[in-house]
Amino acid sequence: MNNIECQPLYMDIQEFFEGLEMGVEQQIPLLLVERDALNEAVKREKNHHHDSLTIGMCLCEAHVIRTVVSKPRTKTGRRISIITVPYQLEQHWHVTAILVLYGLPRLFTGSILAHELMHAWLRLNGYKGLEPEVEEGICQVMAHKWLESELLAGSGSSSFSEFERKLAEFHIRLIEKNPSRVYGGGFRAAKAAVNRYGLRRTLEHIKRAGDLP
Ligand SMILES: [Zn+2]
Repeated sequence: MNNIECQPLYMDIQEFFEGLEMGVEQQIPLLLVERDALNEAVKREKNHHHDSLTIGMCLCEAHVIRTVVSKPRTKTGRRISIITVPYQLEQHWHVTAILVLYGLPRLFTGSILAHELMHAWLRLNGYKGLEPEVEEGICQVMAHKWLESELLAGSGSSSFSEFERKLAEFHIRLIEKNPSRVYGGGFRAAKAAVNRYGLRRTLEHIKRAGDLP
């Protein structure tokens, strides 16, 4: 897919998130990039956990903001020192762009997009410090969920060819059987939690405890 072809797909995936009440309010640019540009971006991003072959990426920036917790108390006749003001550091995330490797088929591009949009959603909703297995696992759950929804929507439609059906099934199996500890193991653990507790409760637990329920 190229950048223009990909925009309707990107909108579909944003709607898919909205349908799960997980709309991403910030408009995040999507860029389909060549392999070299993607590798360059990976090198620059220090805290990005990735396989040897990166196919997508969510670029984020953290802004640290000092928030005053309480005002200094004034005592008559005393000078107030500003250093004694208690404050806490709050981290705010800004998602700069989603990068996806150029030229992949629609279903594959879509599953990468769903994965990367989930990273963006996590950042924008204050999830932080997650173990790679937990974060990549839940992102893979969203990619898997989107592929399943495409398969379901396509099964009754003549526009979805036999080839596309097989391709969707193939990508679903790839996610399920991925031998990587972070992506495969992470997916299987997150999927089991979602099957048991539902997506919303699983996400709430991850936010609270930093781990799967
Ligand atoms: Zn990821």
